[in-house]
Amino acid sequence: MIRKTQAESIAPYLRDASNFSGGNAEEVVIPETSDELANFLKNETRPVTVAGAGTGLTASRIPAGGVIVSLERFNRIIEEAEGRVRVGPAVTVKELQGFLPGWLYPPNPTETLASLGGTLATNASGSRSYKYGVTRDYVEEVELLLVDGRKTLLKRGLKITEPLTFEDGSKIIFPDIAYQSPECKNAAGYFVHPGMDWLDLFIGSDGTLGIFTDIALRLIPRPHDFVSGILFFEEEDSCWELIPQIKSADRKRIDPCSLEYFDHNALKRLKSKHKNIPNRSRAALFFEQAVPEMKDYDLILEDWYEFLSAENITLDDSWFAQGPKDVQMFHDFRHDVPVIINEENSRAGRVKLGTDMAVPDKYFMAMMQFYRETLVASNLDYVMFGHLGDNHLHINLLAEDRDRAQKVYDQMVEQVLEWGGTVSAEHGIGKLKKKYFAKMVGSSGLKDLNKIKYCFDPENRLGTGNLL
Ligand SMILES: Cc1cc2nc3c(=O)[nH]c(=O)nc-3n(C[C@H](O)[C@H](O)[C@H](O)COP(=O)(O)OP(=O)(O)OC[C@H]3O[C@@H](n4cnc5c(N)ncnc54)[C@H](O)[C@@H]3O)c2cc1C
Repeated sequence: MIRKTQAESIAPYLRDASNFSGGNAEEVVIPETSDELANFLKNETRPVTVAGAGTGLTASRIPAGGVIVSLERFNRIIEEAEGRVRVGPAVTVKELQGFLPGWLYPPNPTETLASLGGTLATNASGSRSYKYGVTRDYVEEVELLLVDGRKTLLKRGLKITEPLTFEDGSKIIFPDIAYQSPECKNAAGYFVHPGMDWLDLFIGSDGTLGIFTDIALRLIPRPHDFVSGILFFEEEDSCWELIPQIKSADRKRIDPCSLEYFDHNALKRLKSKHKNIPNRSRAALFFEQAVPEMKDYDLILEDWYEFLSAENITLDDSWFAQGPKDVQMFHDFRHDVPVIINEENSRAGRVKLGTDMAVPDKYFMAMMQFYRETLVASNLDYVMFGHLGDNHLHINLLAEDRDRAQKVYDQMVEQVLEWGGTVSAEHGIGKLKKKYFAKMVGSSGLKDLNKIKYCFDPENRLGTGNLL
């Protein structure tokens, strides 16, 4: 096992994509095998933080003292069976996507340099989650270590109604609690649903319950292609009103996997790279639909033309992919938004507060109108983009004055929680959103979640400072 104690060797592990500073650690350990890590943990008493690829946006991998465990040597990837791969947690989403040409791993976080261990810890999702769901839906089995070094194999189907047994014969029973996760897309706090699998609890636990050292994932046959397009709208409302129409359309014909939104401020920024964005556009919608076989391509495209014409959407200004190059360009279009904002903000030395909230379906329109009114009234610079199909938007509040941005954020949290929504639908809580999470679950919810944490880590040493 490699152990690094020099400040300059530790420094790269004290960062992630959140720009949070102030982390510290005494050393970084880099084990070769899970047994080596287990033995190390059995003799350790300091706090332990697991480092993934550092693309997280909530400072959850940034340690508050103690030891950093980096699983960077766990980068093996093998095809285990048809449609099933076994990966080390350090394998990136990009490496997995390129590994088996005939298969697709549907969770599609925009940042493909994320490690699969990190995506399990945050239950990552992405532009295709509207149809395909989230990371949790594709995990079949993991090898898991507790912070005290105990090891277990978590298989799909092992229910929380049965005790969880470890290799040394010890057992943990799921605590008797009332808390349940909200009914919308959600990545905030532990996943709790009656009769769920143990696996589901650990996925999305923000690096605080266990360490994934080996992962088996389910893949789906790669569609022949995707029909995709970017629709531009002169009025925001026309774009928003199309969403319920798409959702209620005949699924045999109109069945998108992605419905991604760009507001006028996002388009303004994107114009620096994509010059042909129509000048009068106030909003845009990127959609994609999987095409199972080549023969289906033209039919699906035709269905979309017909559907959009019936909805009075002008197609003149819209873009439809003509081949793999365009599909890649549309994905870049989506990926470019946070990248451009981050570059711009660093240059300008401004604060960026990014929301990650979602609400139940029935509040979609109310949510869009509320965001618009609140943001216009705030007089702040902002960019709004993200997953319209899941009622899940990222609003980046850009300001010189943090307090002003914070006030607007607080106002939005109040309303989203009133609608039964979540303060994080995909990035997790980490160290940056704990205040909002506490508000979301209330004191009895926090007590219940602490009971879960206590079962696995009574001294609160794993991922200290995250979530709770
Ligand atoms: C430009 C950009 C776009 C993004 N787009 C998306 C998106 O579309 N969807 C999305 O969901 N996220 C997105 N993210 C956020 C980020 O990519 C995800 O949160 C990702 O899952 C983090 O993975 P990581 O390997 O970088 O983890 P890290 O940031 O290193 O760590 C994240 C958490 O995982 C824990 N962890 C890491 N490995 C393990 C392990 N083996 N066992 C237990 N815990 C572990 C860490 O302790 C920490 O708590 C985006 C980020 C950026 C910068």
